[in-house]
Amino acid sequence: MQRRDFFKRAGAASLALGAGAAGIGTAQAKTDYKWKMVTTWPKNFPGLGTGANRLAALIGEMSGGRIRVKVYGAKELVPAFEVFDAVAQGTAEMGHGAAYYWKGKSEVTQFFSTVPFGMTAQEMNGWLYHGGGLELWTELYARFGLIPFPAGNSGVQMGGWFNKEIKSIADLQGLKMRIPGLGGEILKRAGGTPVNLPGGELFTSLQTGAIDATEWVGPYNDLAFGLYKAAKYYYYPGFHEPGTTLEAMVNRAAFEALPADLQAIVRNACKVVNQDMLAEYTARNPVALRTLIEQHGVALRPYPDDVIVKLKRLAEEVVSELARKDDFSRKVSASYRKFLRESREWSRVSELAYLQARDRD
Ligand code: CA
Repeated sequence: MQRRDFFKRAGAASLALGAGAAGIGTAQAKTDYKWKMVTTWPKNFPGLGTGANRLAALIGEMSGGRIRVKVYGAKELVPAFEVFDAVAQGTAEMGHGAAYYWKGKSEVTQFFSTVPFGMTAQEMNGWLYHGGGLELWTELYARFGLIPFPAGNSGVQMGGWFNKEIKSIADLQGLKMRIPGLGGEILKRAGGTPVNLPGGELFTSLQTGAIDATEWVGPYNDLAFGLYKAAKYYYYPGFHEPGTTLEAMVNRAAFEALPADLQAIVRNACKVVNQDMLAEYTARNPVALRTLIEQHGVALRPYPDDVIVKLKRLAEEVVSELARKDDFSRKVSASYRKFLRESREWSRVSELAYLQARDRD
C-alpha cells in the first residue's frame, strides 16, 4: 500500500516537473529583464565597484541569463549622489552604494550603513539578517519605492589620512576633512569641518589642499587612490566606520515585476556579494597596508587613547540625538542598541577575548 502510494506520488512529481520545465522554457523565451545598475563608485573600483560588478554577473549567472544587469560607474549615467533618486524614479532598476549617503532623505539611513563606535561587520550581519535590522530598513525604503539589500561590507575601516600628527583633540580643530555621515558630525563637534565628497574626487581635493584630511575605506582602496602621495600620516582605527554595510537597492515596481524565483535570485545574489566583499577586504587589506608602509613610507599611527575617549563621548551625543529625531528613528535606534548591548557582552568572551589571547607572546 505504502509502496504504491510512493510510486503514485513519484509519478505525479515527475509530471509536475515536466510541466514546470516546459513552463520555464516558455517563460525564458518571453522574459528577458534588462536592468541598469547605477553605482556611487568609480567604475571597476577595487572592492566596491568590483563588488557591484560581481553582483551583476552573479544575477546573470544564477538566472541563466534571464536577468541581465549592466553596471554604470559614478557619473556614467548619473552622478554618485543621485543614485538613490535614479533608482526610486526608475531611471535605473538597481543601485549600489551605502545607506549613509542618503541622510538628506532620512537621517536614520545611517544606522543601516555604520554607526561610530557601533557594530562590526559580523554584528551588522547578525542584526540585519537575524535581529530585525533588515525589516526596519525595508520599512524605511518602502517610503521611497525602494527595496534595500545588504550587499557588501568593508570591515573595520581606517581612521584616515592627515598631513600632521594628531596628538590631542585640539589637532582636529579647524581641520577640513572628508568624512561622511555621523563621523562627520563628530568631527564638527570636535571643532573641524566635515565635507562629503564622492570617492572619485578625494585625491585631487587632498592634493590641491581643498581639504586637509580625508578618510576613505582601508589600505586596499586607499592604496588604489594613491592617497599616500597627498598625505603622510595614516591613522587607525576607523572608529567612525567599524564595519560599513554596502547596499543594493532595487526599484520596488521592477522587483515586483519579477517572478518569485528571480526575486529569490536577486535577494540571494546580494547575500553572496555581502559576504564575498568582506572576504576580499580581509584578504587584500593586510597586503596593501604592508605595501603602503614598506614601499611608500607611510607613517602608521594609532589615535591617542584620550582622543578616542573624547571622540567616543561625542559619538554618544550624536547618536542619541539622531535616535530622538522621530518615532521611526527611536524604533531603529532601540533595535540597534539592544542588539549591540547583547552582542557586546558576547563579543567580550568570544572575538575580543580570543584576539587578545592570540596576540599574546
Ligand atoms: Ca569611509
